[in-house]
Amino acid sequence: MHEGSPKNYDTNKGIATKYIKVNLVNPEAELLEAGGLILRQGGLVAFPTETVYGLGANALDGRAVKGIFQAKGRPADNPLIVHVASREAIGGLVKEAPGVAKELMDAFWPGPLTIILPVGKGVPAEVTAGLDTVALRMPRHPVALGLIHAAGVPVAAPSANTSGRPSPTTAQHVLNDLEGQIDMVLDGGPAGVGVESTVLDLTLPEPTVLRPGGITPEELCLVLGTVNVDPQALYANKGEGRPRSPGMKYTHYAPRAQLLIVEGRAEAVALKIKELASEYRDRGRRVGILSYEDSADFTNTGEVILVGRRSQPETVAAKLFAALRLFDETDVELILAEGIDDRGVGLAVMNRLRKAAGGRIIHV
Ligand code: AMP
Ligand code: MG
Repeated sequence: MHEGSPKNYDTNKGIATKYIKVNLVNPEAELLEAGGLILRQGGLVAFPTETVYGLGANALDGRAVKGIFQAKGRPADNPLIVHVASREAIGGLVKEAPGVAKELMDAFWPGPLTIILPVGKGVPAEVTAGLDTVALRMPRHPVALGLIHAAGVPVAAPSANTSGRPSPTTAQHVLNDLEGQIDMVLDGGPAGVGVESTVLDLTLPEPTVLRPGGITPEELCLVLGTVNVDPQALYANKGEGRPRSPGMKYTHYAPRAQLLIVEGRAEAVALKIKELASEYRDRGRRVGILSYEDSADFTNTGEVILVGRRSQPETVAAKLFAALRLFDETDVELILAEGIDDRGVGLAVMNRLRKAAGGRIIHV
């Protein structure tokens, strides 16, 4: 990158991506400052958050934000989440914040909750995709907070993957997708939560979860009493009508192999997967199994990847995207995945799996 010279993100290939390892507990101030400077100059910096890695640009600079869409190949009508390092920073970004927004921030910020509020004047249309609302989050990862603070501006950041691919939970995942197209990657080790933030719309008559994520509906109920979950957030987007969250209409998280989910009681699911696996293998297709440490034994059924424990959905969330990317390194053509319970973070896990499967689900 040439310091100070605006890059042309219309053809953003061949940028020298700086890879920088940072201390994840006490990030080095000079490294955060280097990232902050790039953001202020209109560049793109990928950074760890507690959910997944984000690809950041100055949220007040429409041209810089366009660079994110270009690097990811993200459809322009899919708005971005604006990340802040303090509650005060949302002042200029929203028109108004109802009392319930403050209660939610008290309870869950910093953390994996994104709230949608009426947008203020200073936010470029590239960020909101022209909507009259804006999505806001204060992450709790020290590197994310430190970088936003160092930048001195709010940071628009989607997940730092090529659009449609599983979200990145390590700096290596980011490099695999975006090396040569972004200015810098800050490596703060693997992301802890592993699935993205919960997106909660506060501009509807009732607070509504548009995307399940790191904060569960059960946790939201403790503050809100009740919470709506948009039906399109529960299922792969098969519903009628225009989705509330533009992101919901796109296939996401897809590994290269076809993914088929089997949902139901654990024993029945295991039987069905074994039956399907042998059928497909008989037809000469290479089969992978996405299963859990506390599931049935699938040895000799296919290429097995274990993703945490199904009885502890947080452990599944933490490893899910890495597992989907790992399948891409095998020659598997079909992945059979066991569904887990929709409880707690299990809801976010199943939302991502169902999307990755493009709606290919068998109920037993
Ligand atoms: P990502 O940053 O890739 O995790 O995606 C952000 C998600 O938030 C996408 O599903 C967007 O469609 C959604 N989103 C962002 N801003 C808004 C908004 N103003 N209204 C509804 N959904 C939004
Ligand atoms: Mg994303």
